[in-house]
Amino acid sequence: MLRDFHLNGENADPAILALREEVREFLADEKSRGGFAIGPGLWLRADPEFSAKLGDRGWVGITLPREYGGHGQSALRRYVVTEELLASGAPLRYHWVADRQIGPNLLRFGTEFQKQQLLPRIAAGKCCFCVGMSEPNSGSDLASMRTRATRGDNGWIINGRKIWTSNGHRAHYMNLLARTSSDKEDRRGGVSQFILDMKSPGVNIRPILNMMGEHDFNEVEFQDVFIPDEWVIGEIGNAWNQLSTDLAYERSGSDRWLGSHELLTGAIDRLGPTPSSTAVRAIGAKVAELFTLHRMSFALSAMLERGETPVVEAAIAKDLGTHFEKGTPDLVELLVDEMRPDQFDEEFAAMLRYSRRNAPTMTVKGGAREILRGIIARDLGLR
Ligand SMILES: Cc1cc2nc3c(=O)[nH]c(=O)nc-3n(C[C@H](O)[C@H](O)[C@H](O)COP(=O)(O)OP(=O)(O)OC[C@H]3O[C@@H](n4cnc5c(N)ncnc54)[C@H](O)[C@@H]3O)c2cc1C
Repeated sequence: MLRDFHLNGENADPAILALREEVREFLADEKSRGGFAIGPGLWLRADPEFSAKLGDRGWVGITLPREYGGHGQSALRRYVVTEELLASGAPLRYHWVADRQIGPNLLRFGTEFQKQQLLPRIAAGKCCFCVGMSEPNSGSDLASMRTRATRGDNGWIINGRKIWTSNGHRAHYMNLLARTSSDKEDRRGGVSQFILDMKSPGVNIRPILNMMGEHDFNEVEFQDVFIPDEWVIGEIGNAWNQLSTDLAYERSGSDRWLGSHELLTGAIDRLGPTPSSTAVRAIGAKVAELFTLHRMSFALSAMLERGETPVVEAAIAKDLGTHFEKGTPDLVELLVDEMRPDQFDEEFAAMLRYSRRNAPTMTVKGGAREILRGIIARDLGLR
């Protein structure tokens, strides 16, 4: 479906059109050879081999500079590649966080040492990062976090606990937020950002099963974990400002609304060539929304490329995008009776069941809906 939604300027650039085709051909070839199967979980599945394959083709770290192993290309090229990958349900989880937000954030705030150590591995699709922000009793109100970093010899000693750490059991590193001074002194200014090697002594990872019965989340405990000074990101006490960029990358992309694209296109296929007028109206409205989101996320990626920090815009995009995504299984379920029975196979049914059960997470992870709306309201002067 996205093939009909070319972005501004995309039609005028044969290289971009050729890139879209190249990614599609690669994906069709991978699917036909069983390189990955569409199914429950869609792009949220982790497959280190597939990530490395993308790295080999130059489709990870696309915008990172060549001197750090990246490809020095435009945000438009990255956008087109990731949109095609996400829309096809390819398993991207393994390298996703590193590629989406850690690479660009290190480029902005990291030291030369950190860039040289990590960016080439990120661009190779071989670096798995998790995010260590949320804590028990400290999710939306992130500044209330209790995990502490205290000064040691040439580094910091971490004690505390993180929760809902997606991919924590696979990750090489955690993007860790910890308190370096008391919240009474400075609630937000007392928080710092670190890169934690997940193999460090004192890191204990415990699985938490999600609603689908899968092990994706974890609880991660730190007992006197040492992080050398060279792994502090940016300035001590400046995590709150640094995080604005991080969260803009995390919230603004097409991953917020393309997660069930295969479900939507699968439903359209199964409705056959002469769907009812009810189905046409429902699908038409959905596709119009999809087009808006597609334009919006791309515009945000261009803002980020220009070095801007679109905090409020990213909050709007995530709120609209996750609303769209959450509604997809509801829409498909309403249309099931209209689908041709011979086409309603177990693979599609499993994808629908998975998307349905996964839907509530979308408006919580990466910033809950009420919190995003609070950010938007504040910007409008309403609170
Ligand atoms: C699938 C998934 C993956 C996740 N992965 C990670 C991860 O990798 N790393 C990580 O650090 N965290 C992760 N999280 C955690 C996520 O960021 C938190 O769940 C989220 O920030 C909400 O925090 P909470 O769960 O403590 O809920 P709470 O903050 O307790 O919120 C509960 C409800 O109350 C509402 N609420 C809270 N405060 C206000 C307010 N001031 N005004 C109005 N309403 C309010 C919220 O919007 C929400 O609806 C993940 C969560 C999910 C669901």
